[in-house]
Amino acid sequence: MSNVESKPVEVRCGSPADGNGNGNGEGDGAGDSEQVTREREPRVDVLTPRDVPLGGPRAMTVRRTLPQRARTLIGAWCFADHYGPDDVAGTGGMDVAPHPHTGLQTVSWLFSGEIEHRDSLGSHAYVRPGELNLMTGGHGIAHTEVSTPRTTVLHGVQLWVALPGEHRDTERDFQHYVPGPVRVDGTGTISVFLGSLAGAVSPVRTFTPLLGAEITLEPHASLTLAVDPGFEHGLLVDHGDVRLAGTVLHAAELGYVHPGRDTLTLVNESDDTARTVLLGGTPFEEEIVMWWNFIGRSHEDIARAREDWESASDRFGTVEGYPGDRLPAPVLPNATIRPRRNPAPAAHS
Ligand code: MN
Repeated sequence: MSNVESKPVEVRCGSPADGNGNGNGEGDGAGDSEQVTREREPRVDVLTPRDVPLGGPRAMTVRRTLPQRARTLIGAWCFADHYGPDDVAGTGGMDVAPHPHTGLQTVSWLFSGEIEHRDSLGSHAYVRPGELNLMTGGHGIAHTEVSTPRTTVLHGVQLWVALPGEHRDTERDFQHYVPGPVRVDGTGTISVFLGSLAGAVSPVRTFTPLLGAEITLEPHASLTLAVDPGFEHGLLVDHGDVRLAGTVLHAAELGYVHPGRDTLTLVNESDDTARTVLLGGTPFEEEIVMWWNFIGRSHEDIARAREDWESASDRFGTVEGYPGDRLPAPVLPNATIRPRRNPAPAAHS
């Protein structure tokens, strides 16, 4: 997916000084008893989405939980759009013309519907529910995403992963992987598309330690998962009310849990099956700059990527088979980067 904001701001993410990955919030002046309480019930930061229209009069709207003022990164996960269930008869579905990416990977994960993907690597693939499609932008890639005519309801997430500095100029790549859902009797299912969880391991290579899994929970089911204590986690709720480590999350909310936990407990508080996506990773130590569809390390990186796209440089290649023009890059703001920092633990109320 392309970031379709007409005036995207530059977002600086993951400053090591901003508290991202600062552990369990030590140093906030809490007394011993509160400290003990927090050991049992870790603090969960509830991130609410903002609605971003995908453009056009009938356009579908996505719910963006990352990046936002309160948090820009969860591990290397740097962008989370959640959309649908969306009746494409009403909205026209998805039709994203050729657009570029640098310095990141895109993860397309659907709950329903189908999207046709084409990229400048020559990949032509169909994104279907329960199937991972991971595109690596690296130094530069271009792609298109169009919901297919047989799609009636479009529903899913589009996630981006920031590449670490040593791999940010890696060659473009596209991978497809279908995880076998793990059934937990009487509780739900777990589909691990990146990393490992509940004994399931995705074979797909990541450039930093990462977790991505769809978890469904039967009505009122409770599930305790062993997790990597070095990871921070985010649970995006698609459907249902789900209690994560003691905090109830409603549909479209993303609950963030600091590193340091070796288990996470999810409880479906609703009478329906709940669906969630669990993201995790080791805190991303580098500061990155995101603007439009690019990730770099500086404003100059972004300006160069924009210039390369506007001049149709070989850097991004060409997407074949899309009946329309490429997306022009928005105007780059002259202003210096607008920093967005995660709050220090002490700022939390
Ligand atoms: Mn895209």
